Amino acid sequence: MGRHGQVLWIRLKKIAEEIAGSPVEIHISTQLSDDIRGAIVKSEDGNGIEILLNARWAKKPEDVHQTLAHELAHLKHPNIHSKEWDAEAKRILKYLEMKGGE
Ligand SMILES: [Zn+2]
Repeated sequence: MGRHGQVLWIRLKKIAEEIAGSPVEIHISTQLSDDIRGAIVKSEDGNGIEILLNARWAKKPEDVHQTLAHELAHLKHPNIHSKEWDAEAKRILKYLEMKGGE
């Protein structure tokens, strides 16, 4: 939970970079269809990653943490929502909630 319900974007970006081991940019988009919460892609220069968050789901800290954890877990487990992916997403979510929401 964010203090005063705010999303601490810069802190979340830094934590994401720590997890990814590379530069991370977070983009909020109104372009994604309603059923897609987010996406993760390699940046064009190949040196980092970009995370797109659907503006519809990027308002409350808990939703942002959940989507970021979901997408960051795909770094190790691309494409599929396997048991291993799920465990990784839960681990990352705990970390984001601990470090990213004070
Ligand atoms: Zn996914």
